[in-house]
This record gives sequence, C-alpha cells and structure tokens, in this order.
Amino acid sequence: MEPEVIRDKEAMRRWSRAMRSQGKTIGLVPTMGYLHEGHLSLVRQSLTLADVTVVSIYVNPGQFSPTEDLSTYPSDFSGDLVKLSALSGGKVVVFNPRNLYDYGGGERKKVNNGGGGGGRVLSCVEEEDGLGHETWIRVERLEKGLCGKSRPVFFRGVATIVTKLFNIVEPDVAMFGKKDYQQWRIIQRMVRDLDFGIEIVGGDITREKDGLAMSSRNVHLSPEERQRALSISRSLTMAKASVAEGLTSVAEIKDMIVQQLVGSDGRVDYVEIVDQETLEGVEEIKNGVVICVAAWFGTVRLIDNIEINISL
Ligand code: AMP
Repeated sequence: MEPEVIRDKEAMRRWSRAMRSQGKTIGLVPTMGYLHEGHLSLVRQSLTLADVTVVSIYVNPGQFSPTEDLSTYPSDFSGDLVKLSALSGGKVVVFNPRNLYDYGGGERKKVNNGGGGGGRVLSCVEEEDGLGHETWIRVERLEKGLCGKSRPVFFRGVATIVTKLFNIVEPDVAMFGKKDYQQWRIIQRMVRDLDFGIEIVGGDITREKDGLAMSSRNVHLSPEERQRALSISRSLTMAKASVAEGLTSVAEIKDMIVQQLVGSDGRVDYVEIVDQETLEGVEEIKNGVVICVAAWFGTVRLIDNIEINISL
C-alpha cells in the first residue's frame, strides 16, 4: 500500500504529536526525492530504530546557490511512493511540503542583487524571496572545508532546513547517509551544540554493483560519463588498499587519486584526507581518517568517500 502523504507542516506536526501521544517513537529520513536504494536503506534502518518513520521529500532551495542545479534536480514523486510502498517492517508516511520558506505573510520583495548580491553569497531562497526568510543555522568550523569551499551556502541551507524539519516532525531519531559525510558530521554537531533531543544515526554508503556511489544525480550522467565516473570509487578502494599495505603519505595517496580522476577526464573539485570527526586535514594517514573526493564528470558533480578504520 502506498504511504500516506502529508503536505502541510501543521498537519505533519499534528500527526507526529498524535503518534507520540500513543507512545510511539518517530524516525525521520530527510531526502530530496528521486529515491534510490541508498535512501531506502536509511528508511529500513529507521524502521528498525523507531515505531513509525517519516520520509521527507523536499528539494531545498535554501541549499542551492542561483548558479547550481536546483531547476534540473531530478524528481519522480509517484515512483518514490511506489518504492516506499514495497518496504515492510513498519509504518512509513511521506512529508512532501510545497514550500517551507513560504510564511504566508504578505508581499514578497525580489532582491536586486546586481548579479552578485552586493558581494554576499546568496541561496535560491534569498534570490527569489528576498525578505521572506532571514534566519540561518551555521556550523562554523565544520562547514568551511571540503564541499563548503566550492558551495558556500550549501551547509547553511542544509543545517537550516534540517532544523526546520526537526521542529516540524519532532522525531526521536534521524538518519543521514555517510555518502554526504560532511553533512552527517555537521548535523551531529548541530544537534549536540543546540541540544536537540534527537539521535542522529549515520548509514553506510550504498553502491551500485560496479562501485559507483548511488546518487539521485547519477541519472544525469551519460553512459560514457558514468563509466568514467567509476574512477572515483575505484581510486578510493585502491587508496584504502595502499594504506592497508603501509602507505601513509597523504601527498602520495592524494596524488594517486587525482591522477586516476584526471586520467578518466574528471575535473577534480577536491581530494582531501581528513580526521573523521574534526574534518581537518591530517599530515599522515592513520586510523580514523576519511578520504573524501568531489569531482565533475560532464555537468555532474559527484562526491564519495572511504573511511580508514584499520589498525595501522
Ligand atoms: P539526498 O536526497 O541526496 O539529499 O539524500 C538524502 C539522504 O540520503 C542523505 O542523508 C544522504 O546522505 C543519503 N544518501 C544519499 N545517497 C546515499 C547512498 N548512496 N548511500 C547511503 N545514503 C545515501
């Protein structure tokens, strides 16, 4: 049976509170839709951890800059419902709000940002809504590196929308994929720093059979680009194997990965080896680091990572 769909935030909160009053615990899996097995693995885990699970499907304009791919982000809402209806093991509802930045208050102003927001970096929300929303959550240190460098409004938008979802759904536990490693760490830190009473659980990366990390954006890869993009997971696996064999030089490992990506005509955004918790660059590879990659294949920016949890 297809899951119930709730589109209104007040109705969502009412539903959650009704569940809570029946003594049920609530899991939340925030997504931007176009669901794949990676999302579904998080939903399955949530179903084992909580009595009922809310899957939010919302493409958040607040985390895209006006030059990014908001308008072409893939969607297939009816297909998503079919995929969710095939799951067993507990009750799932879908929260699919139309616009979480519409506060229904009068006239909106269009910001005249002169093409650059007067030097400010803008999200699509500010570009379109102007004064509609002005409160943002920033996780100041963790958001700086890795994806934060090339996507300056991204984590501010993510932390803010996740906070809004937490306040609307009021879950006990929320699932985040380690595919978006920095995002997962940022949300964990935000929950700690702001005393949200919510357990944050990280789910392992789900991959295609050939190693490509599942992502909604993979649909935009041509067959040839998709083939070349396998260099990401292949280089990460080879890097991990080299570390297991005793290579501890950050420069050498990074170089090895960059060469494979460039050799496959990928455009490297970053290859970084960082501490799993602080996300700060390390000088030598040791247990407890994560190797993170972002690279473009054609017009698609892909990210992936591999944790090094072996005693060296
Ligand atoms: P998205 O819809 O891309 O915003 O992703 C929603 C959630 O699913 C995030 O917590 C992601 O980290 C997670 N996710 C996306 N792809 C994967 C994957 N391949 N494996 C595990 N989790 C994933």
